[in-house]
Amino acid sequence: MTKEFKKRACLEPIIPYMPGKPIEEVERELGISDIIKMASNENPIGPSPRVMAAIIDYLPKLSLYPDGSAYYLKQALAARLGVAEQNIICGNGADELITFSGMTYLNPGDEIIICNPTFSEYEFTARVMDAVPVRVPSANFGHDLPAMLAAVTPRTKIIYVCNPNNPTGTMLTHAELESFIKEVPPHILVVMDEAYHEYVTDPAYVRSIEFLHAGYNVFILRTFSKIYGLAGLRVGYGLASPEIIADINTVREPFNVNAVAQIAAQAALEDNGHLLAVREANTQGRAYLAQEFARMGLSYVPSQANFIFVEVGVEARALFQRLLQKGVIVRPGDIFGCPQHVRVSFGTAEQNRRFIRTLEETLREMV
Ligand SMILES: *Cc1c(COP(=O)(O)O)cnc(C)c1O
Repeated sequence: MTKEFKKRACLEPIIPYMPGKPIEEVERELGISDIIKMASNENPIGPSPRVMAAIIDYLPKLSLYPDGSAYYLKQALAARLGVAEQNIICGNGADELITFSGMTYLNPGDEIIICNPTFSEYEFTARVMDAVPVRVPSANFGHDLPAMLAAVTPRTKIIYVCNPNNPTGTMLTHAELESFIKEVPPHILVVMDEAYHEYVTDPAYVRSIEFLHAGYNVFILRTFSKIYGLAGLRVGYGLASPEIIADINTVREPFNVNAVAQIAAQAALEDNGHLLAVREANTQGRAYLAQEFARMGLSYVPSQANFIFVEVGVEARALFQRLLQKGVIVRPGDIFGCPQHVRVSFGTAEQNRRFIRTLEETLREMV
């Protein structure tokens, strides 16, 4: 039968997200066995053992629907962050909360303002909602906040600020964001995506919850996927005024966060020692890669995240392919409009050393 219906016209420009092949598949194809994936900003240490134990304890209850309000997780987050339960919404990953922000507020033709390059989900959400992404070129690989303010129009509905920025790892300070937020007019929601918040070591980093308490229109996003090592479970949370949270709750499916994820996230919050160990290993990896890039004469963007954006001086796509053959997966920068950069997620100390050895050897082959 002919198909006499079309997908919505606004979906035409969307290129579906191309997930990498599973490591096992690449290993089989290449006939190698020790691939390291430093491409998706995943936690190389894994989740806390206490989280794994809590998950196992929960398994007999899998026949029950999850708690649709994520009551205990929100209680734990409220106590830890010094906010009220009414300030919190939990999501199937922070990604879902980005989608919710668009579903809640974007009418066709509304504009969003984003940095270029930044995380791709903001533009994706805008397109799905038939809204218009306005990309403002980065300055020194970070957000150009004055230029983003200058891009505001009466149609602007949301400004997404990714801090630290993915894929570049740059950070905005409290002072920078404070002067910015004061200038944002009241018809605009500022989404502050802080997926890498817990990795930041610079004391000048934003304390965004102060903006929430001061009454600004912010929606702060955090996730259990990165430092807590729970990317496979899908759980994140958003913080905003009770009014904004109530708005966003209208688009949420009743059981959006699965029960195992809720249990795991609560247990993760209780193991601060694990978080500190992951952060320390990350900080060391960050210093090591920066030092090795400097030794090799490669320029890199100083990072506050769990990855680093480095200029490799050759076509990143070709380098990516060669590294892949040697069992090292990185993210080539062409997808972010930077064809000579790669984004590398920090691994364990041993993985970091192997990455540097392999990179150095491969770059020698390529020049
Ligand atoms: C990883 C990431 C997220 C989303 O994480 P979830 O796994 O969906 O919680 C959100 N924003 C940025 C910038 C990220 O890098």
